[in-house]
Amino acid sequence: MDQILDAINGGASGDDIAALPIPESYRAAHTLRSEQEMFADVPSNEKDPRTSIHVGEVPTPELAPDEVFVAVMASAINFNTVWSSIYEPVSTFGALDRLARQSEWSKRHAQDFHALGSDASGVVVKVGSAVRAWKPGDRVVVHCNYVDDQDPAAHDDAMMASNQLIWGYETNYGGLADLAVVRANQLMPKPAHLSWEEAACNALVNSTSYRMLLSPNTYQIKQGEAVLIWGASGGLGGYAVQYCLNGGAVPVAVVSSPEKADLLRQMGVEHVIDRKANGYKFWADENTQDPKEWRRLGGDIRDMIGRDVDVVFEHPGRQTFGASVYVAKRGGAIVTCAATSGYMLEFDNRHLWMRLKRIIGSHFANYHEAWQANQLICDGKVQPILSAVHSLENTGEAAWQMHQNLHEGKIGVLCLATEEGQGIDDPEFREQVGVDKITLFRRAGV
Ligand code: NAP
Repeated sequence: MDQILDAINGGASGDDIAALPIPESYRAAHTLRSEQEMFADVPSNEKDPRTSIHVGEVPTPELAPDEVFVAVMASAINFNTVWSSIYEPVSTFGALDRLARQSEWSKRHAQDFHALGSDASGVVVKVGSAVRAWKPGDRVVVHCNYVDDQDPAAHDDAMMASNQLIWGYETNYGGLADLAVVRANQLMPKPAHLSWEEAACNALVNSTSYRMLLSPNTYQIKQGEAVLIWGASGGLGGYAVQYCLNGGAVPVAVVSSPEKADLLRQMGVEHVIDRKANGYKFWADENTQDPKEWRRLGGDIRDMIGRDVDVVFEHPGRQTFGASVYVAKRGGAIVTCAATSGYMLEFDNRHLWMRLKRIIGSHFANYHEAWQANQLICDGKVQPILSAVHSLENTGEAAWQMHQNLHEGKIGVLCLATEEGQGIDDPEFREQVGVDKITLFRRAGV
C-alpha cells in the first residue's frame, strides 16, 4: 500500500494511480470464524471487542466488474462493528455464507475472516470494467447500502430490495482497513472542506437519521413539530438534532450526563433532558414496566415545551419503547431503526390504537437519500460529530468505548491517513462554514 499512498500524497494523476499494482494482501480489522463462539457464556456487556477484533493482513479479492478498490484513508466505528465483534444478536459469518450463495462473485465473501467497517473516506484506485461514473483518483466517501440492481424491488426504494445488505456488516471487505471493495453505487463525493476522518464518520448514521426524519418513505418533520430524540449526542442523535434545528422543528434531546447536555446546548438545543439525573425507571423489574414513569417523562416534556411531542426518534428499544409510545402525541409517530437495549419490545397498545399513533420502521437509506444527506455535509449545512480518533490498530478499543457508551458522537479511525487533519482540499470553505462548528464534538470529546 506504500506505493499507492505515496502516489496519492504526491498528487499523482488518476491514470498513474490506476497503473499501480494492487497488493495481494492488506491490513484490515477483522473477526475470525474460528472464534464466533468465544463469548457463548459471557454476559452481553462484558463481551469485549478488544479480544475479538484482530488487525492484520487479509488476502485481496478479485474485483468484480461493478466494483472499485478504495484506498481507505479513514473509517469510523458504528454500532454494527460492536454487534459483529460480540457476535450478537447472531454471528455475521452466517450473513457472509448466505451472501456467498447469490452468485459466482459473491462467493468471495464467505471467508474465515470478516473484514469489518461500514464507513470509509478515501481515494478510488482501481475500477471494474462496468464502472462508468467514477475513476481512479476520485476522492470519495462510501455509503453502506449494498443492493443488487437486478432485483426489480430495488428500483422504487432500494431499501425494499429483497437482498439488501449492509456493507462491512453483512458483506466482507469493509472500511476498517487500508483497502476496501465497494460497489460503484455506494460512492459519493468526499466533502472537500473536511479532513479524511471528519469525512469518514458521517455516511452511515447521517443517512439513517436523514431517512428517519426527512424522507417520504418514513416521516417528514415539519416546521414547529416537536421531536423527542433519544441518545441525542450519540451517532444517530447528533444528526437528528441538526435536522430538527435546520428544519425549524423543536428537538427535545435526551442524554445521560451534564457534559452531554452542555454539548447539546452549544449546538443550539433549548430543551435537554438528562435521563440519568431524572432517574427514570421505566422497568420496575426485568418483566414489568412502570407506567407511572412513562407519565413522569411525559409530564417533564409538557413542562418544557407545553405539549406532547409529535414524533419520537427511537433506537434504544426495549428499555425506552413503552415510554416512547406513551409520550408521542395523539396521532403522533414513533420512528424506529434499532433496539440497542433489546429487540423484544413491549408497549401498551391502548395508547397506540386509541390515540391513533403510528410506529414506523426505518433502516439505513437508499442511494438517493444517502446522497442528499451527504450533499448537506458537502454544503456545510450539517456538521460532522467526530469526538475521538483512534488508529486502525486500536479498533478493538474504539469499539469497546462504543459498547460501553463512553463516547459522544462518532469515533473515527485513521487507516492510511498518518495523522489527523489530512485531506482538507478546500480550507477557504472550511473557514466559511466555521472550524468551531465542524470540530464542536472533537473539542468536547473523550
Ligand atoms: P451511539 O453512538 O452509541 O448512540 C446511542 C445513544 O443512545 C447513546 O449515546 C446513549 O445516549 C443512548 N442510549 C443507549 N442506551 C440507552 C438506553 N438504554 N436508554 C436510553 N438511551 C440509551 O449509537 P448509534 O450509532 O446512534 O446507534 C444506536 C443504535 O442504532 C444501535 O443499536 C445501532 O446498531 C442502530 N443503528 C441502526 C441503523 C439502521 O440503519 N437500522 C443505523 C445506525 C444505527 P445517552 O447515554 O446520552 O442517553
